Amino acid sequence: MTDFYHSVTLDPDKCKGCINCIKRCPTEAIRVRKGKAYIIKELCIDCGECIRICPHHAKQATYDPVTAVLQAPYKLKIALPPPALFAQFNNLEDMDIVASALLRMGFDRVFEVSRAAELVSDATRRIMKYGDIKRPVISSACPAITRLIRVRFPELCDHVLPLHAPVEVAAALAKKEASEQTGIPLEEICTAFISPCAAKVTAAKSPIGAEHSQIDYVLALKDVYPLLLEQMSEEQNQPLTNTGRIGISWGSSGGEGSALLLDNYLAADGIENAIRVLEDLEDEKFDRLDFIELNACSGGCVGGVLTVENPYVAKTKLQRLRKYLPVSCNRLTSPIPAFFKWDQKLEYQPVMTLDSDLSVAMQKLNDIEQLAASLPGLDCGSCGSPSCRAFAEDVVRGKAAVGDCIFRMRDEIELLGGDQTDLRDLVPLPFRKEERDNG
Ligand code: SF4
Ligand code: SF4
Repeated sequence: MTDFYHSVTLDPDKCKGCINCIKRCPTEAIRVRKGKAYIIKELCIDCGECIRICPHHAKQATYDPVTAVLQAPYKLKIALPPPALFAQFNNLEDMDIVASALLRMGFDRVFEVSRAAELVSDATRRIMKYGDIKRPVISSACPAITRLIRVRFPELCDHVLPLHAPVEVAAALAKKEASEQTGIPLEEICTAFISPCAAKVTAAKSPIGAEHSQIDYVLALKDVYPLLLEQMSEEQNQPLTNTGRIGISWGSSGGEGSALLLDNYLAADGIENAIRVLEDLEDEKFDRLDFIELNACSGGCVGGVLTVENPYVAKTKLQRLRKYLPVSCNRLTSPIPAFFKWDQKLEYQPVMTLDSDLSVAMQKLNDIEQLAASLPGLDCGSCGSPSCRAFAEDVVRGKAAVGDCIFRMRDEIELLGGDQTDLRDLVPLPFRKEERDNG
């Protein structure tokens, strides 16, 4: 498997082994061993939850530095600002103020992602009307959700909309438009996406549904924001943007769904809420829904871990900006172009098979079930695994020993200690079975 590039990484020097992150990870991708966390790459979906929760800033997102693109030897550099970028500024009434500041920063062109979002909304409406796809259709715009489905909800893969996210479409359109208008060959043009989250960095570096991305650089919104503030001015701005309410609304939860003009769609945000919806869908609890929009971050992309503004404040700012925009500025006038569509099917990623030999795998599964049933079931995380079930699996895989369970260790010490209180007092207070003098 080749696509294990991850934006989310761990700095072991900063990690204190506090186990805060292991309980928060939605795919149980983190373990703590020998006092340090590590990420199981095959399971990580780059949702960024561990970045948010780590009190020691040991988890971080990696991306390209702004200088990398501004100093790159391309003839033409195009900035791709997402809707969430426009939601970071106070009292913004004109998107051209931000777009013109991007030019002053050193970009040659700007192609706002929301332009492509309006076209993707159009394409989605057509697929919903004429396409042969399982209902409810699940949006593919949030890459953390798409990866979550691929590793945790294999039966839902067929529900996922087989269209590229707006940023990927924007990158392709921006290059094509620039090349046609300037005569500069495509290979001398680069695109730089200003990302609100780690998942979109990963999606650009190792895309889903395609072999290669049209995005050449991915910058962090929080790095670009202060540089933009220095360049923003009410004067001498150029008419660069061409976005309506439909496109800009994609920046917050519910924007994509409402653009489809359907009555029966559901939008949920925050990774835990999204998981609940997917579990209910797997249990066939939704029989009248046509479309489900899920965003891993609270509030949608405005809540991405690389943004600067509080997501709820950003959402309000986006609503204000919408007032100054027409309904929509971009329509598909031809059949859905091929480059809008995934050329690879979304398939279940059996990332953690127990063994290539089926009978050995079955035996291991049996061992896991037995061990899990014998553990206390407290899911306390003291062993460095996120749950007793995950710990049992780690033991059977040879990645942990049964004695790493603090309760197992207690039982062994108490057994060994017999009536010797000195030895039994080695068991830490919260884990002792009975109170003694010092308890
Ligand atoms: S939250 Fe996780 S990564 Fe951060 S210090 Fe604790 S164990 Fe290490
Ligand atoms: S980014 Fe998400 S999936 Fe990856 S290790 Fe962190 S919490 Fe887990």
